[in-house]
Parts: sequence; C-alpha cells; structure tokens
Amino acid sequence: MSGVHSRPSHVRSAPLDRWIPEAVGVHEDADGFAVRASDGTGYRVDITDGALDARNALLADVIDHRRVQVFTGPTVHRLYGNRLRDYLGRHLEPGSWQVHEIPTGETAKTFTTVELVCALAKSGGLDRRGVMMAMGGGVTADIVGFAASVFGRGVDHIRLTTTLLSQVDVGVGVKTGVNALGSKNMLGSYHPALGSISDLDLLTTLPVREIRCGMAEIVKMAVILGADLFTALEMQPRLFEGSDAAHPRTAASRNEVTRRAMRLMLDELHTNLRERDLARLVDFGHTFSPVIEMASGHRIAHGESVAIDMALSARIAAVLGQLSNDDADRIVALLTAIGLPVDDFPTCTPRLLTSAMDAARARRGQRLNLVLPTAIGAATFVDDVPPGVLDEALLQMRRRPAGRPLGLVR
Ligand code: NAD
Ligand code: MG
Repeated sequence: MSGVHSRPSHVRSAPLDRWIPEAVGVHEDADGFAVRASDGTGYRVDITDGALDARNALLADVIDHRRVQVFTGPTVHRLYGNRLRDYLGRHLEPGSWQVHEIPTGETAKTFTTVELVCALAKSGGLDRRGVMMAMGGGVTADIVGFAASVFGRGVDHIRLTTTLLSQVDVGVGVKTGVNALGSKNMLGSYHPALGSISDLDLLTTLPVREIRCGMAEIVKMAVILGADLFTALEMQPRLFEGSDAAHPRTAASRNEVTRRAMRLMLDELHTNLRERDLARLVDFGHTFSPVIEMASGHRIAHGESVAIDMALSARIAAVLGQLSNDDADRIVALLTAIGLPVDDFPTCTPRLLTSAMDAARARRGQRLNLVLPTAIGAATFVDDVPPGVLDEALLQMRRRPAGRPLGLVR
C-alpha cells in the first residue's frame, strides 16, 4: 500500500468543479474527463492517486455531504477497509456513512447479491437523495451499479475502481449488470455513475494476472483506434507490473497509458452510450471470447480470452487479406510480451468458435459484426467468416504462435 503521497497535483482543498459542458463530446482536463453523450447524458470520470489519502478531497467532493452506503468485496475490504473508514470518518458527518462487505467474484455477480445490497442500503437508512458507492473491480461496480439503478427506482452511485480493467473499461461507461439465466450480464441497466474515480495507486496490490487482463482491454483499444498507444505498449509491455509505482516516471507513464485508453474508449462510447447501434468497434476481442471463457469453466479469465480472441481475429483478418501478416504478427507479439495467452487448444476448435459466432449474431441483431483490424489503429466489420477461413486462421495461429520478437517488428 502506498500511504501518504507527496505528489500534489491531485490533492485538492477547493471543491472540484463538477460542471459538465453542454457540448456533445469528451472534454479532457487535468482531473480526467467530463462526458456529454449525444443523448444528453453527462458524467465525469476522474483519475487520481491516493484517493483515500486524507488530503485528497475528490471522493468527499463527489459524495457532497449525502448519506452514503459503501460496498466492497472481501479482498479489497481486507486491503483497504481501514483506510476507507479513516477517510470517510475524516470527511463525512458521523452517522452519514456505512461500509459493507459483500460477496464478489463471477459466481456472486447475481440478482441475489443485488438484493442483498439493497437490503443493506435500506437497513442503513439510504434515502432517495443518498448514494451507493462501489469500491472494487468490475464485479463490485456492476453489482452495486445495478442495485443503485433499481433501489427506490434509482439512486445515484459512485465508483472507486480498483482494477486496471475496471478503470479503463467498466468505469468509463454507464453499464451495470449481473449474470443470470445462464448468461453473462443477462440482467442489467444503463445507469451513469455520479462519479467514477480511478486510483492508479490501488493497482500496486493487484495480482499480475489481473493486471494482464486489464492490459488486454487496453490492447483492444490500441489495435482498433490507437496506433500511438500500441507503440507505447510495445515499448513497455509490463508497465503496470512491479511495485515501483512511486517512481515518478513509472507513475507518469501509467497515468498516460490509462488516460489514453480511457480517452479512446470514451470517444467511441459517447455517441452510442446505450448501444442502440449494435455494430461496435469496442467489441473487438469480444466475439469468440465469451464462449472460450465459459467453455473453459472460467479456467481462462475474461481478459485472457479477449487476448486469444484478438490473436485469432488478427489471423482471420490476415487470411481474408484485410491485414498484413506483419501487423497480425505485431498484435500477437505484443499480447505474448504482455504475458497473455494467444491460443487455447481445448477451446479453440472450429466447432466451438463457429458456435461463438452464432451466439454473437443472436446478440447483435442477427449480424455478426466481427471486428477485424485492418492496420494497427484501424478496424472494420465483417459479416461472414467462411469455414475455410477459420480453419486457415487456426493453422496460421499455430504456425506463428508468438508473432515475432518485438524489437524486429518495426
Ligand atoms: P473483479 O472485480 O472480479 O476483480 C478481480 C480480482 O481482483 C478480484 O478477486 C478482486 O477481489 C481483486 N481486486 C480488486 N481490486 C484489487 C486491488 N486493488 N488489489 C488487489 N486485489 C484486487 O474483476 P474485474 O476484472 O475488475 O472486472 C470484471 C467484471 O467486469 C466482469 O464481471 C465483467 O463482466 C465486468 N465488466 C463490466 C463492464 C461494464 O461496462 N459494466 C465492462 C467490462 C467488464
Ligand atoms: Mg471485456
């Protein structure tokens, strides 16, 4: 844990100006982003360090003297519960806040846990002006966000995201949800958070495997929209690993990469916040991966299955002549350098991958909308992958398993 910080940039004494411009777009500032979506929705995403440092008033500003019910999972509670209570105790009125530990993990991301959150909030005296707050990764954020969207027909919620994945992905969007009826994220809602705070310091306790899962979602954004980000990742594939976060240069690079990934994501999301358009570039890596993840019985984590999907999609793109073999190699090489898997023999079978495409069609209004890269930083949609192409792509994947060493590519 990082303790008190000497970096003054995020330490505020004056309340943060939380005004969101009327102009549709993503407005970037020193604290993060103010988003005005094309449907009028406005919200802020803030990046900070030491969010629970007594001198950092950001979280207290967002809570703004309202009653708050905070929910966190066992691991985050064990690591940060005391600091969280100290912070709330210093900044909020006595009796106006409570911290609850709730079960987390994919198996606890259920309607039952949402009901538990609502019950705890009710017994804690949460009223319509009160707020729910999630401190944790995407699972906690999704459960609590969903609970907030239905409690009393909707209360505000705040997210303090603690995993790389939740910072660059869950935290910048407006989706909530739980697993139900045998499907991932089957029930959920669109419910923008009152505030979404990413604290990069909290990542120092995150297991390496979780860091790499977050990196997979960053690579996703880089491949489809951010050639500059891709190059930055190639230079530092293990940027978020290791504990030298306090080193100013590391901290600055981490901040820059996170901010860039968030920016690319927000640019893409804000015109289609409620997913009325089912052809989404950010679905890159998310066509084969849900089936790979489920078929592996969660042996393969979400980010890992996204990596495998991206490697396969790159090979498919190369076989279809949409992407050069060199660029496909570059994508595979980056994923490998990060420490992510790029193939999985038991699940990457033509039969299972074909069933994944059928399932994607069902989710996407009967169109496949498979996102394929056309270069580093550009992508397109494809609606049909003939069986021969899939077989050839799998062959290529196994013939060129590690792409090429990074240094030789450019
Ligand atoms: P997660 O919430 O399960 O967290 C991963 C693990 O890290 C957990 O074991 C957690 O206890 C631990 N952890 C969290 N913060 C930590 C910290 N600072 N130090 C040490 N350990 C810590 O997983 P995730 O990857 O954050 O999120 C995945 C979930 O997010 C999935 O359920 C997915 O469906 C969802 N998701 C939602 C959206 C959305 O738009 N709503 C987008 C992407 C993903
Ligand atoms: Mg994902």
